[in-house]
This record gives sequence, C-alpha cells and structure tokens, in this order.
Amino acid sequence: MIRKLYPFGKAKAFNITYDDGVLQDVRFVELLNKYNLKGTFNLNSGLMKNEFEWIHESGCVVKRLNKEKVLSLYTGHEIASHTLTHTYLEGKSEPEILYEMKEDKRNLESLFQREIKGFAVPFEYYSELIENCAKNSGFEYARISEESLSFKPQTDYHRWKATVFHLDDSLEKLTQDFISTEEELALFQIVGHSYDLDTENLWDKIENIFRKVSSKKDILPMTTIEIIDYLKAMGEVEITDSHIVNNSVQSLWFSVNGTIYEVSPESRINCDS
Ligand SMILES: [Zn+2]
Repeated sequence: MIRKLYPFGKAKAFNITYDDGVLQDVRFVELLNKYNLKGTFNLNSGLMKNEFEWIHESGCVVKRLNKEKVLSLYTGHEIASHTLTHTYLEGKSEPEILYEMKEDKRNLESLFQREIKGFAVPFEYYSELIENCAKNSGFEYARISEESLSFKPQTDYHRWKATVFHLDDSLEKLTQDFISTEEELALFQIVGHSYDLDTENLWDKIENIFRKVSSKKDILPMTTIEIIDYLKAMGEVEITDSHIVNNSVQSLWFSVNGTIYEVSPESRINCDS
C-alpha cells in the first residue's frame, strides 16, 4: 500500500496564517518560535508607517509594525502580500487591483530581499477578477477568507481556504480531530490576526493548541508556500502498483507497505520488490 507523505516522512502538516502585521505579532512570533512552528504573515507594505494605529471595537489599540520591526521580526516565517493598503477590492477596476497587488509584492520583495509568492485577500470579498489579478501579479496562491473546515488539502491554489478561523467555536475540536485523523496528506491551517488574541483573551487557548500540535512527531510545521509547492510537486508524481516516479524538481516522501521512502527529483523507486 502506497501513501503520500509530507517532507521527512511526516503524515500531516500544520500552518498558521495571520494578517495585517500588527504589534501583537511580536508576542505571537515568540510563541510560534517557542514551539518551532511556522507562520505565514500577510502584510500591507503601504501601512508600515510609524504610529499608524486604530482602536478596535473592544477598546484595544491595534498598531501596525513599521518597516524596521517587520524586517527583524519574521525571520524563519513566510511573508505574503495582503495588498498595498488593505483596501476593499469590491468595485475596484482591474488596474487598481493590479496596482494594490503588484506594488505590495514589489515593496515586500525589496524590503525582505526574497520572492513573495503568496497573497491573502483583505476582507471577505473575492471574485474571478481578483483571482485573475492575483495570477497576473505572479502569486502562486491566493488565500480567501472562507474556511474549509476540513483537513483535505485544497486543490484550487488561487481560491485557497485555510482550515479554520481562530475565533470559530470548532477550533479546539478540530485540533483534536486533526491529531487523530488518518486522512492522507492531512493539513491543518489556522487563520486570524494576532490582535484578536488580545481582544478575545485567546493567548492561553492558542498556546495550548501549539503545545499539543508540536508534541506530535507525525506533524510537520510548514509555511503556506512550502505546503503549496509540495502539493504541486505531488501532482506531478506517477504512482502504479509497481513503481513511483517523481517527475517534479523536489524530493517527495511516501510510505510503501509501512516503510518510508524519499524519492529524489526526477527519479523512481520500485515498490514490488
Ligand atoms: Zn487584513
């Protein structure tokens, strides 16, 4: 029996994708690092001015991080675009949407000196036009606001749904279900903003989840782009009863009758011996 696995032979992947680049990310990144987890941070490069802040309805002050803080904070995690100015994309023209995406991508690439491959849509509205703009801006994936509430990896990379919003009542039950699921290539991805952890007093709840997930040896922490690149590569594999051929450019992992194999790029293994 052949089973697809994540890198290093892990059965499951875990990711956190948080938006907006706010002050509470400082504490949040510390927490991720404490448990060796990986985050994806979706940033608006046009709002990184010092002192830019707003009052949340709870009374909590939410403050955007400036460029210097952003640059030093997210080492080891993924940076993705969340548009230049966190504008409502509904009703915007194609050139306006492209400007919000491309300008943000360009700024983030120049700031972080790395390619920015992911996009997360601000607010809830999403459309075919936005999807096409994300593709034309060179993003490999676009995360939308809808939850999947499932561990099955998404197949539409430009309408990518994370598993669950962190304020959803099912968060803890889903965590438990994820730990026990046997689903192939199971993925658990939590979406949110770190300021909610202050306003909803959620720090302990999220740390409990991190503690549980990080203690499981079969769960691999990954960034969103690492997951998507891996799933795309998995899509190029040829599997029969007798062999596995990896036509992709990255190593892929499988379990064959209970033994774990790493199949190098452009190589094959025989399964019937
Ligand atoms: Zn946002």
